[in-house]
Amino acid sequence: MKHCVVIGGGVVGLTTAWALLERGHGVTLIERDSEVAQGASRANGGQLSYRYVSPLADAGVPLKAMRWLLDPDGPLRFKPEASWAQWSWLVAFLRNCRGPVNRRTTERLLALGAYSQASFARLQAAAELGDAIALRTPGKLVVYRQPAEFARVAARVQGSGAEQALSHDDCVALEPALAQFEEGEATLAGGIFTPGEAVADCHAFCAALYERLHGHEHFRGRLGGRVDGFLTSVRGTVFGVQTTAGDVTADAVILAAGLHSRALAATVGVELPLYPLKGYSLTAPITSDHRPPEVSVTDFEKKILYARIGQQLRIAAMVDLVGEDLGLDGRRLASLQRSVRATFPHAADYDRATPWAGLRPATPSGAPIVGASGVPGLWLNVGHGALGFTFSFATANIVAELVSGRASPLPLQGMTL
Ligand SMILES: Cc1cc2nc3c(=O)[nH]c(=O)nc-3n(C[C@H](O)[C@H](O)[C@H](O)COP(=O)(O)OP(=O)(O)OC[C@H]3O[C@@H](n4cnc5c(N)ncnc54)[C@H](O)[C@@H]3O)c2cc1C
Repeated sequence: MKHCVVIGGGVVGLTTAWALLERGHGVTLIERDSEVAQGASRANGGQLSYRYVSPLADAGVPLKAMRWLLDPDGPLRFKPEASWAQWSWLVAFLRNCRGPVNRRTTERLLALGAYSQASFARLQAAAELGDAIALRTPGKLVVYRQPAEFARVAARVQGSGAEQALSHDDCVALEPALAQFEEGEATLAGGIFTPGEAVADCHAFCAALYERLHGHEHFRGRLGGRVDGFLTSVRGTVFGVQTTAGDVTADAVILAAGLHSRALAATVGVELPLYPLKGYSLTAPITSDHRPPEVSVTDFEKKILYARIGQQLRIAAMVDLVGEDLGLDGRRLASLQRSVRATFPHAADYDRATPWAGLRPATPSGAPIVGASGVPGLWLNVGHGALGFTFSFATANIVAELVSGRASPLPLQGMTL
C-alpha cells in the first residue's frame, strides 16, 4: 500500500482518488476550495460523450476560426496576450490542425472513451451514487444546418455501426423538440445520432463521489488548503507537497489540478502545454410548460450543446482564448441567450437561467496528459480539455495502474508529455 497525495478536487482528482483506493492505496486529496468541483467541473455541459470525441484541432479549423472571429455571435473569441503560454500553445495547436493528426487523435480518444464508459459502469456499480447525479442515456444527436456540411458528414458515417445519419424528418421524429428549430429562421438539414451517449450532473457526481470517498478508512480529504509546491529530495524525487496547512509527505503525488497544474508543475521544471479555453454555460429551469429536448443535442454550426439534467436544461458553448479570465462577459452571454432562444424557444425558462464560465484545461491536440511526469514521485492526470467528465474515469484507472507499478491498460501514445 502506498500513500498517495492527489492535488485537485475536480472530477479528475476525485475519480483518481477512487481508483487509487480501489487498488488498496491510501489517499489524501487536497483541494484549495472549501468545496469540491468549483473549477471546470462545476457547471459543464454534462455530456458523457464517449463516441463523439471530435478533437478541436483539425484541417480547415484555422480557416473556419477566421470566419468565427469576424462574427460577433461566433463560437470563438481571441484576445492576444503578451504571454508565452498563449502563443506557444497556439503554434502547437496549429501544428495539430491536419487531417492525419486529427484522425490519429480521434482514434486514441475513441479508445479512451470506450475504456471510460466501461470504467464508469464499474464505478457506478461499486459506488452506488444514486439518482442525485441525474444520469440518463438518451444518446447524442449532432444537428447540421447546412445541407452540404451534413451530406459530407453523413457520407463519412455511412456503414459505421456506432453513428446513424438521420434525415430532417427522422431527426424530428427522434427528438420532437427539434420542431422548434424552424419556428425562426434556422433550417435543419439532418443529424448524426449516436445511441448510448449519456448525460449527468458533473457537480452532483463529484459531490456524491466525495461523500463515498469520505466513508473510506484510507481516505483523507483536505478542503480549503492550497498546494504551493512540492517536497523534493536532493536527487529531485518528489516525496510530498507544501500546502498552506503544512507539509504532507507521500510515496506518490498525482497532479490533477486542472489548468492550475501548469503553474505547479513548473515549480519542479515540468512544462505542461496547457491553455485555458474559456466556455460558458446556462442552466435554465424546466417547468411543465416547457418542451425541452430529451436527447442530448449538439448544434454543430453554432457549437452549442443542450442537455436535460433533471429539471434543468444545461446549455454549454463557446471557446474564448482570453487567458485565465473567469468573468461573465455580458456580450457573450447575451449572444448565447439570443442563439438559444432562436433555436429552442420553448425548451426552458431562459429568463431564470444561471450563467457560468469555466476554463477547459486544454492541450494542443485535445488529448489529456496521463502518467509519468519525468520527475520521480510525481504523476500527471491533466489536460482533459472539453471532455474531462467523459474521460476522467479512464484516465483515473490508467494513473492508478501506473502508480501501482503495473502497465497502462491502454497504449498511451499521444497522451504523455
Ligand atoms: C463550458 C464547458 C462545458 C464543458 N462540457 C463538458 C461536457 O459536456 N462533457 C465533458 O466531458 N467535459 C466538459 N467540459 C470539460 C470538463 O468540465 C473539464 O475537462 C473537467 O472539469 C476538468 O476537470 P479537472 O478536475 O481536471 O479540473 P477542475 O474541475 O478545474 O478541478 C481542478 C481542481 O484543482 C483545484 N486546484 C487548483 N490548484 C490547486 C492547488 N494549488 N492546490 C489545491 N487545489 C488546487 C481547483 O480548485 C479545482 O477544484 C466542459 C468545460 C466547460 C468549461
